[in-house]
Parts: sequence; C-alpha cells; structure tokens
Amino acid sequence: MDKCSFCGRAKKDVDLLVAGVSGHICNSCIEQAYKILLEETNTEQSFDIKDIRLLKPREIKSFLDSYVIGQEDAKKVLSVAVYNHYKRLSQGESDDEIEIEKSNIILVGETGTGKTLLARTIAKMLQVPFTIVDATVLTEAGYVGEDIESLLTRLLQASDYNIKAAERGIVFIDELDKIARKGDNPSITRDVSGEGVQQGLLKLLEGAEVNVPPQGGRKHPDQKMIQVNTKDILFICGGAFDGIEKKIGNRLNTKLVGYSASKETEAIDRKNLLQYIAPQDLKSFGLIPEIIGRLPVLTYLNPLDREALKRILVEPKNALTKQYIKLFKMDNIDLSFEEPALEYLVDKAVEYKLGARGLRSICEAIMIDIMYDLPSENKKKFVVTEGYAKNKIEHTNDKKLRVA
Ligand code: ADP
Repeated sequence: MDKCSFCGRAKKDVDLLVAGVSGHICNSCIEQAYKILLEETNTEQSFDIKDIRLLKPREIKSFLDSYVIGQEDAKKVLSVAVYNHYKRLSQGESDDEIEIEKSNIILVGETGTGKTLLARTIAKMLQVPFTIVDATVLTEAGYVGEDIESLLTRLLQASDYNIKAAERGIVFIDELDKIARKGDNPSITRDVSGEGVQQGLLKLLEGAEVNVPPQGGRKHPDQKMIQVNTKDILFICGGAFDGIEKKIGNRLNTKLVGYSASKETEAIDRKNLLQYIAPQDLKSFGLIPEIIGRLPVLTYLNPLDREALKRILVEPKNALTKQYIKLFKMDNIDLSFEEPALEYLVDKAVEYKLGARGLRSICEAIMIDIMYDLPSENKKKFVVTEGYAKNKIEHTNDKKLRVA
C-alpha cells in the first residue's frame, strides 16, 4: 500500500501523495518541508545598512514636502529624528563611550491630518520594511486580542521574513492614545488594561529580543517563534489624543500664575494649543512615564484648513486630481478640473467635517459617472465644472459621503 515515506500515513489518510523514485511524500510533509526551507534560507538573508538611501535632514524634508502638505514643524522634527536614527545604525560599534540613543517618535494631531502619511513617506524614501499597526488591537496576554509581539509579525511579513531587514524597519503604531490610562492618578482611576498594554509595549520600544509569532494573532504553545531584536527598529506612534488641548491649556495657565501672567498669556495662540505640547501633557493624558521616556521625539500636526485641503487636492506628487487625470489619460481623454469645482469640493469636505480623508469619497461621487461612461464614448476631453460637481453631489446619498 502507498504511504508517505516521511510521516508514514497511508494514501487514504492524506489529501495528496506525490510519488518519487523509491518513496512518496504527502501534502502536509511537503508543507512542513517548505517551512523548514524558508527558515533555513532566512538565516542567510542579508541586509546591509548601506542599502538604506539616507538623505540629509533638509533633503528628507524636501522629499516629505512633495507628498505632505503643511505640517512644517512635524516634517522638520521628523527629518532630524530619522536622520539621527539611521546615522546611529550606520556607525555600528563605536569605541568611545558615547551611545546614541534611539529616537522613537510620537506624532500628536487630529485624525486625517497626515500622521500615517508622514510615516509612510519616510519609509518609502528609505526603502525599509514598513508596517502600520493599530494599538487598539492589543491586549495583555490572557485577554481576547492580539499579543504585543504580534505587532512585529506584520513587519516580518513586509520584509518577506527577512529578519535582518525587519530589524531596521519602521513600525507605525496608530491610536496610541487609546491605550492611555484614564486619568493621571493611578490610585484613583486605575485602568489596568491600558497600563498593562503600555508596559508590554515598553519592552518593544526599549529594544529587546522578542519572540514573534510568524503568523500573528495569539501565541500558542506549538507555534515556532521567530526571534526579532527591536533595538534598531524605529517606532513612530500617532494619536489624536482628544482633549489634550485642555491639559496643555491647564499647564500653561498654572505656569503663568504668579509672574507677568498677562504679558505671557497674550503670546499664547489659544486656537492651536497643540503646538505647545510637552511630555508632561502626555502623562496627564494617561501615558506612563516610561513610555514617554521611550518616545523622546514629540511633535504635533496642525488641523487642516480650507487652504491646506485645496492644496492637498492638487499639489502632492500623487494628489487625487493627478490620479484621475492619469487614469483618463490611459484612455486618451484629457481631463481637467475648473478652479470653482475644486473650491466646491473643498467646501463639501469642510461641510461634512471629513478632513483630507473626505476628499476621496467626494471625488469618487463626482467622478463615478464619467469613469463609467467616458471610456466607451468618443470624447477626447472632459472638464469638471462647478455645475457638474454640484449636480453629482446633490444626487449622491448623503450617508455615502459621510462615511469616509
Ligand atoms: P492620520 O494618520 O493623521 O489619521 P492620514 O495620514 O491617514 O491621517 O491621512 C489620510 C489621508 O488624507 C492621506 O492618505 C492623504 O491622502 C490625506 N492627507 C492628510 N493629511 C495630509 C497632508 N498634510 N498632506 C497631504 N495629504 C494629506
């Protein structure tokens, strides 16, 4: 009777049995063998720090400028942090006693203002493995949800399981504010789960050997783990930190009491308090000091005003309007947008309070009919006018536009 020469199972017990010269192999043994093969080749994968295309801070900033509108402070701070981070990696073992510390970054700003875009653009520039993970899926071991280490699974996947490359990669942790402890005083309002997750995260940020489940999710005993050292992984965290302006305001007020208060108050731009954000505000919000200490580079993003939204529509390298124009060009159709149509589009994004993210759904609503019809018609040119845009939006279900 035919059976697998590796596991001994009979033909009837397996899905597939492949015959060789003097034996057989079943489908599960093939899978098993393939995994071993992957692991073995992995250890030989190499990654040279010199492969990273490292530009000077000013050049990094100007690269960011071509994708991200505004956010000057964040771009500058980020450019320096990234530059220093990779400089630190390329110096290798140094003989003096000076050890350059890792500059993990935290970006604070409303949703849809470009935090993810900034992190993504940096990774694109450096051509290092990059992944976005959401802090809200994390829980402490024992609860439902993913283990902290699984944050790195995605990075491994992004690097095709090239561990060395992953160890030089960038992880963007979104919604960090969601794992904040509720309130500043741990003894009164102790939110254990948030704090536990922060403690877990700390291990990754500090730089440690961690065991990563290759397929992600929860760890289970018979899964083989991949060891990843996080020492050189750059973590960029983002969060909206709703309500943090109040904490910033409070801090500024208390500081001012007592000396030349009135004079200093005048200098404060109350409309955009985020620009004064300092580490202690993150603490008041509920991040543990150890985490704050491991995210030494703190910067903020401005809310996007009308003018910024308009620029986002047309200026970035892959601006939405440029994308549509390119799509139509493939059909030899010359597409253009009239200025008032763009203004109208921005008005709608503002009206629906969708920020930059809303621009896309509004554009889609306007463009869907011509994207459907024009390729079959013999038109060589189409101009999106304000009237056309208005008409399309007015005939679009409101609810569709509101869900960005
Ligand atoms: P966040 O991470 O802050 O919530 P994102 O970076 O995901 O926001 O932004 C959502 C989308 O909005 C981006 O993919 C981009 O198209 C657009 N966008 C947001 N902010 C900017 C900006 N400052 N410049 C250019 N595009 C932007």
